[in-house]
Amino acid sequence: MSSEVNLWRASSREHFAAPPLATSREVDLAVIGGGFTGLAAALEARRHGASVCVLEAQTVGHGGSGRNVGLVNAGLWLPPEAVIARMGPTGGKRLIDTLAEAPQRVFDLIAREGIDCEATRNGTLHLAHAPAGLRDLQERYRQGRAHGAPLRLLDAAETARRTGSRAFHGALFDPRAGTIQPLSYARGLARAAVRAGAEVHEQSPVTGLQRAAGQWQVTSRGQSLRARHVLVATNAYHLGFHDPFAPQIVGVHYCQYATDPLPEPLRRSILAGGEGCWDTALVMSSFRLDQAGRLVIGGIGNGDGPAGRVHAAWAARKLARLFPDLAGLPFRHGWSGRIAMTGDHIPKIVAFGPQAYACFGYSGRGIGPGTVFGTQAARALLLDRPDLLPVDPLRQHREGFAGLRAAYYEAGASAVHAIAAQGSVGARAGLPQAGASSRA
Ligand SMILES: Cc1cc2nc3c(=O)[nH]c(=O)nc-3n(C[C@H](O)[C@H](O)[C@H](O)COP(=O)(O)OP(=O)(O)OC[C@H]3O[C@@H](n4cnc5c(N)ncnc54)[C@H](O)[C@@H]3O)c2cc1C
Repeated sequence: MSSEVNLWRASSREHFAAPPLATSREVDLAVIGGGFTGLAAALEARRHGASVCVLEAQTVGHGGSGRNVGLVNAGLWLPPEAVIARMGPTGGKRLIDTLAEAPQRVFDLIAREGIDCEATRNGTLHLAHAPAGLRDLQERYRQGRAHGAPLRLLDAAETARRTGSRAFHGALFDPRAGTIQPLSYARGLARAAVRAGAEVHEQSPVTGLQRAAGQWQVTSRGQSLRARHVLVATNAYHLGFHDPFAPQIVGVHYCQYATDPLPEPLRRSILAGGEGCWDTALVMSSFRLDQAGRLVIGGIGNGDGPAGRVHAAWAARKLARLFPDLAGLPFRHGWSGRIAMTGDHIPKIVAFGPQAYACFGYSGRGIGPGTVFGTQAARALLLDRPDLLPVDPLRQHREGFAGLRAAYYEAGASAVHAIAAQGSVGARAGLPQAGASSRA
């Protein structure tokens, strides 16, 4: 087994390191959190000529940005009519239209900044796991087309030809989407931001945030960063301070397992077109290849938690069920991450004070949305143009019973995976052990 359990850490061709904050200073924009949201904001701030400093508690990409599946989707997990039902026709349409362009913005940014992140724009396949799933996809197709999305509904035979698996009843193909190596994207954003003149400090947890003399004062490592504007971009990985604001979300874990590169003949039959996939099941799962041809399979559940072995056994069983030729292939990498869900699955921007925003709650869709929300939040703050935000800013956001709801998701995923893994080929040698992965 690789010494690095998170595949993205083991395979990243982008490298980034930055020193901790060591002196007090003043900047236009202070950004708390070094993921897609914070780094996209820093890059945008420099394009406006503003001085900007990103403080990251651990290393760039430590949170969801360095652990996700890497599906660069257009839009939210919710279909358009559900977005409009929750946000109203004007706000809903604004968010749908903005996120429809999100993959284009991500891939343009990658090209513009020369980010080496395995960017592959070959679309995604939303796979029908059952006849009911196909009906769901037919409805998503109808709604998506009505909102101008260039979707295609594929039958079971075409889906089998593209995926190399006979397990699905059909698929919804979205050509706007694609895949990336997510940690490389985060590191590339950090590198680009520094090249543009931003300051980034790792191992610099923010422990205090307050208003003093008409400015924000950010405390980290005993130093003080004074700033006119502040962006909290800590999402599901927030730690260290609660006042004046901490994002409220429901943390849902998602675990992933990766094989060694598949042998060449199998690479020609499994996802030969390079699409990224996820399915319609309530306890969702995903799979994709990376550029070296490793199969990465994932599902809801905490691989580092008490049910870690159940999730790992499920993944082995799932691999064999989807691709019988791969049965018994060991996993070399296994890791987990925490997704920031909101009750209505709509991402939030909270204006928690003067010249201050927090962006969070992308509910499993944060590559495009995080990039767009971070970019637009920086623009809105620096130009004093809240109308540029993709959603109306809220004064506050609360999630009731967040801990209980997170436990419910984990218990549900564990039960479903335990049933699915019965008769499992089992956790075999080379399978990462629960507790060995980088902690979520
Ligand atoms: C397993 C998994 C799979 C996913 N799959 C997909 C996918 O395929 N496609 C997709 O679009 N989205 C996906 N997502 C969602 C996506 O990864 C996230 O929405 C996105 O990464 C959020 O980016 P962010 O910058 O807002 O937050 P994060 O990347 O979580 O960054 C927050 C950062 O803040 C830092 N921080 C916290 N507190 C402090 C503090 N006090 N001081 C300084 N720094 C602090 C953390 O260390 C962390 O690095 C997935 C998420 C997970 C976990």
